[in-house]
Amino acid sequence: MKLAEDLYFFPWTRPTVNNCNAAYIGGAMPTLVDPGHSQLYGHVEMGLAGDGLGAPQLVILTHCHPDHLEAAVQLQRAGARLAMHPAEIAYLDGEGRMLASALGMRFPELTYDVLLEEGELKLGEESLQVIHTPGHSPGHVCLYWPRHKALIAGDLVFAQGVGRVDFPGGSGEQLKASIKRVAALDIELLLPGHGPLIKGAENVKKNFEFIEQVYFGMI
Ligand SMILES: [Zn+2]
Repeated sequence: MKLAEDLYFFPWTRPTVNNCNAAYIGGAMPTLVDPGHSQLYGHVEMGLAGDGLGAPQLVILTHCHPDHLEAAVQLQRAGARLAMHPAEIAYLDGEGRMLASALGMRFPELTYDVLLEEGELKLGEESLQVIHTPGHSPGHVCLYWPRHKALIAGDLVFAQGVGRVDFPGGSGEQLKASIKRVAALDIELLLPGHGPLIKGAENVKKNFEFIEQVYFGMI
């Protein structure tokens, strides 16, 4: 689904199966953010083909949970480079891996080509901002694209919701601080990692107000 020039969104809409939304940034460095589960990646492939888009050259992971990361394995095999925050890579090598094995899951062995640090990220001619937003996981990041006033939010905030903080490495205090940071941005399009996107600065603002009122006392 095309949202703006070079900005696409592939929402996951089957409520009975958990998977994440994917976002795609076109242009000279085609980039996919959060490909989702391996066995469900077909929905992104269909979306890319439907919009006439090629395979991504770079895959950015907002965080390491399998419902965001898993399909990165096949994309890397197909030649894409992978990017994740250093704190998330360290987490995945330690606590995250223990969590996965406790849940009977095996995390794929991945190598990361780009360390996604806080600050400017150049994708071809485009300039985005990487914002380190811990809380849901230690090295979680959001991506802000000033050109479209778009925030790719991962599992930090959703429409009327926030990311879980009860996994190992999660922190309610960090999540609140991270939400406050991104709420200060000028956002017209908020693309969350799950659920519907939020369009329009007024709706985005109302959503942050709702989250602060309803969730901040609980987390
Ligand atoms: Zn997650």
